[in-house]
Amino acid sequence: MPEQSFFQEVLETLESANRYLNLPPAIYTRLKTPRRSLIVSVPVEMDDGKVEFFEGYRVQYDFARGPAKGGIRYHPKVSLDEITALAALMTWKCAVVDIPFGGAKGGVACDPTSMSRDEIKRLTRRYTYEIGILIGPESDIPAPDVYTDEQVMAWMMDTYSMMKGYSVPGVVTGKPVCIGGSLGRNKATSAGLVTTVLEALKHLSIPLAGLTVTVLGFGKVGYNAAKIFHDLGAKVIGVADSKGAIYNPQGLDIEAVAQHKKAADTVQGYKHSENLTVDELISIECDLMVPAALEGQINASNVDRIKTRILAEGANNPVTPEADRALINKGVFVLPGVLANAGGVVVSYFEWVQDLQRFFWNESEIDARLNTIMRKAFQEVLAISKDKGCDMRTAATIAGVRRVAEAVMVRGLYP
Ligand code: GLU
Repeated sequence: MPEQSFFQEVLETLESANRYLNLPPAIYTRLKTPRRSLIVSVPVEMDDGKVEFFEGYRVQYDFARGPAKGGIRYHPKVSLDEITALAALMTWKCAVVDIPFGGAKGGVACDPTSMSRDEIKRLTRRYTYEIGILIGPESDIPAPDVYTDEQVMAWMMDTYSMMKGYSVPGVVTGKPVCIGGSLGRNKATSAGLVTTVLEALKHLSIPLAGLTVTVLGFGKVGYNAAKIFHDLGAKVIGVADSKGAIYNPQGLDIEAVAQHKKAADTVQGYKHSENLTVDELISIECDLMVPAALEGQINASNVDRIKTRILAEGANNPVTPEADRALINKGVFVLPGVLANAGGVVVSYFEWVQDLQRFFWNESEIDARLNTIMRKAFQEVLAISKDKGCDMRTAATIAGVRRVAEAVMVRGLYP
């Protein structure tokens, strides 16, 4: 069977939601189609003096509800299909948590792990210049995603500001605090994910104390989620990164694992644990599994071995549609990424508001506002899921798509 494209998978979920929404055909077609897609060629002078060309993208999927919003990823597997799919998911995500943004995504097909910091800087500056015709604080606001970080956002902000001739902090979010970044942005995706899991635990009457957790991916999202769960008294029994996994049924000390990873460049070999392959960790029984790496990590090849009660998506679409159906049939409570990992873009919204106002909030204010938004979004999605008798992914897509469709319809067709 030919492999289904990621964007087709996203459209399949949209179709499931539309079975309940019954949108007018023209609106449905609008939402199945990206609004704007830009492909750019990014020449970069490498450290050895040779010039290499990388392909970059920025897709603005829809901006009926406000400026387009979404991260930038640097990864060898970046393609127009992937970026379009992620831009669509950003559109629903911003609407699920009801922040006034449309959805976008960008990326460059490159291998940042084999590039120097200087090469990444030159790549970032030229890519920013090339997509400069689309981005801006009123039109489209990038943020970090896979293999992009605060420093990359600082270079993007600087490049855009140099093009304008004055500083424009609101053009990107997830930048360092000293140039207009927000407190709490770094851990926001994970903090939001934990809030939705705590709501799910209440709903399912599962206690937090001693909750066994496995986390697949030990980047910013995976590490912070593991740390918050550990600090709350849950037992993080296994974590994985791209090189392998570790397991300790008594629970891992996440800070110590992070120290080990800093030195060894992998979680593997951490002394109070057993080394496993990522696939072996996926087979370990737990109460909560958090896939926080790339899309498609949970698929037909491993879903049968999963023994968890809750699965919360830290990554965007880490579960293929086939695996999703299998999880639902097994009775796993799946928290989809458009809800579970929306905390990042929520605090991006706070950052943008603070930048536009030139007035900054303290961290407890940010944490409290994030918590309120995430709890409300969870309860709204849960209510839809109960009302329609559907799973949480379909319910979240209904919640998001309904808001986007409403905005498209009330604005009407131009001209
Ligand atoms: N890359 C993150 C996401 O997928 C954050 C996007 C943003 O803050 O704009 O949700």
